[in-house]
Amino acid sequence: EDCRVYEFAEKIGKTAGDVIGKLFMLGMMVTKNDFLGNDEIEILGEEYNIEITIKDELEDVNYVEDYAEDEIDKTNYVSRPPVVTIMGHVDHGKTSLLDKIRSSRVAAGEAGGITQHISAYTVNKNGNDITFVDTPGHEAFTSMRVRGASVTDIIILVVAADDGVKPQTIESIKAAKASGAPIIVAVNKIDKETANMDMVKAGMAEHEMSPVDWGGDVEFIGVSALTGEGIEELLENIIIQSELLELEADPTALAKATVIEALQVKGKGAVATVIVQNGTLKVGDNIVADTTFGRVKALLDDQGKAVKELGLSRTGQVVGLGDVPITGSALVAQKSASEAKEIATTRAEHSRAKELSASTKVSLDEMAALIAEGKIKALPVILKADAGGSLEAIKASLESIKNDEVKVKIISSGVGGITEADIALASASDDCIILGFNVRPTGAVKTKAKSEGVEIKTYSIIYALLDDIKATLSGMMSAIV
Ligand code: GDP
Repeated sequence: EDCRVYEFAEKIGKTAGDVIGKLFMLGMMVTKNDFLGNDEIEILGEEYNIEITIKDELEDVNYVEDYAEDEIDKTNYVSRPPVVTIMGHVDHGKTSLLDKIRSSRVAAGEAGGITQHISAYTVNKNGNDITFVDTPGHEAFTSMRVRGASVTDIIILVVAADDGVKPQTIESIKAAKASGAPIIVAVNKIDKETANMDMVKAGMAEHEMSPVDWGGDVEFIGVSALTGEGIEELLENIIIQSELLELEADPTALAKATVIEALQVKGKGAVATVIVQNGTLKVGDNIVADTTFGRVKALLDDQGKAVKELGLSRTGQVVGLGDVPITGSALVAQKSASEAKEIATTRAEHSRAKELSASTKVSLDEMAALIAEGKIKALPVILKADAGGSLEAIKASLESIKNDEVKVKIISSGVGGITEADIALASASDDCIILGFNVRPTGAVKTKAKSEGVEIKTYSIIYALLDDIKATLSGMMSAIV
């Protein structure tokens, strides 16, 4: 957790001066208002011989303090629709399936108007609502936890019937299992002549995804995003699964939602696409998300229609935040505008202080020293982002920051969360840094990074990322001179 030097000192019953002195002895110069990184806290724990548990940073992202378990009053609980995420290997038909489900469920008149892909929507099947979410960086998303539970209630794993299990299928299986949500396998493209259901089942069974008809516990449903075949059966299965989950929440509570996408829109300002997890989000609500706050000026439902409120498991766009919040952050309604402002301001101060202290980290000096010895001329990076657009923009900018002495070398880049594979790749190349834009590593990945000595830096503002890299490169240059 974020912790300033003096706060840490208070917690362990020492004076700030004592802690500063201890850190100075260890070669770290800090003032009492500086934030301590997890590493420093761990080192201090060892020095003072006290046991310290550090909260997972992923929980920080969602600001779990907003969700204290004992504050939850269940008297008004009602059942809520399931939130379903689709994962799978690229080109296996995730987008097509989402589009087909949507177009097959909306009134015929409206269907014609739907041309553009929508990131989240709710459909109705025999009186039951189901919310589907398309999330960039699925893995980061599914492992993000709100109130101890994943945003996603059920995961659909798409595997193409003509292609079978592929690397991202395996990654998806792992992420899906880690999230704890039930998994349904949609074997897509069964319209194809080369479709082979048994081949898919055998491949999946090798990864502990044994089909029900083979004595296992995973439902496999053949579908075609092209013809629509099997989609009704898939929806029926989702409903059966969700009934088993007994999903509930309180529609009368102050709204708690998760931001699944956010961007600046000309003429509207910051627009955040959210899923409501608890309560009802209303026009006029005072809201805070990440380090930004505001008042809900307008709400658009999943069809783009202006609405007065968004209910449980509903998704739509929120207009009225002062700035674009990070994907995955919790958007929470507050009793008053001043409370919303105070929470956001405190968080903004914390993150600024953290960025400042991060930019003066010793590792950059070490890097510079290595260049001075002629060991590095390029700064190797692995870049991960939550969306293709930002990935391309950052790549292009990074590639343009260079001169005769030093440059950025992008070893690998991609859309999605920071995975163990990225850590392995980074540790294989000397001094490689992993840069995450709007994506964050899970606890397991962070642990691995630490044990491999790989540095992961995450950003939510492109300029902050670029400035940081520029600073690193100029540090590298001045070391050569
Ligand atoms: P994604 O990368 O998983 O989102 O995959 P897409 O939805 O973009 O689909 C990749 C390609 O497969 C596209 O060319 C689709 O038209 C095609 N495709 C998707 N679903 C089906 C299907 O059920 N049958 C057939 N024949 N092609 C499909």
